[in-house]
Amino acid sequence: MKRILVAEDRPASLELIRTVLESAGYEVIDAMDGQDALHKAGANSVDLVLLDLQMPKIDGFGVIRQLRNDPKFNNIPIVALTASAMQGDRERALSAGFSSYIAKPINLAALRSEIERLLNAKGDSDAGNREIF
Ligand code: MN
Repeated sequence: MKRILVAEDRPASLELIRTVLESAGYEVIDAMDGQDALHKAGANSVDLVLLDLQMPKIDGFGVIRQLRNDPKFNNIPIVALTASAMQGDRERALSAGFSSYIAKPINLAALRSEIERLLNAKGDSDAGNREIF
């Protein structure tokens, strides 16, 4: 079973994402802030990470900076979740090393298909860096 780490500080959003991903057959590890995300990333083997950009303690940019410096995480898909659909944030996310970017409110069908695409594309070095919008 593929394991996904989901870091999102809003409990209702986290539960919604968890429900959707579990019903799609993934195992979900959740984190409520950036520090929790780094702790759980270090303690578990995961296949993909979903990171809210705006989180307490350490934001999504701070989390991905540390993850991409870790050999365990420098090659796995990491997807940004953000409330902002601003073009600048999208570009900033991709240049920070995110594999792709999903704007809130999250389109759940698009989230599922994007995760499936990224997990299936593993090993294709070019496949991770594409936006879904
Ligand atoms: Mn947030």
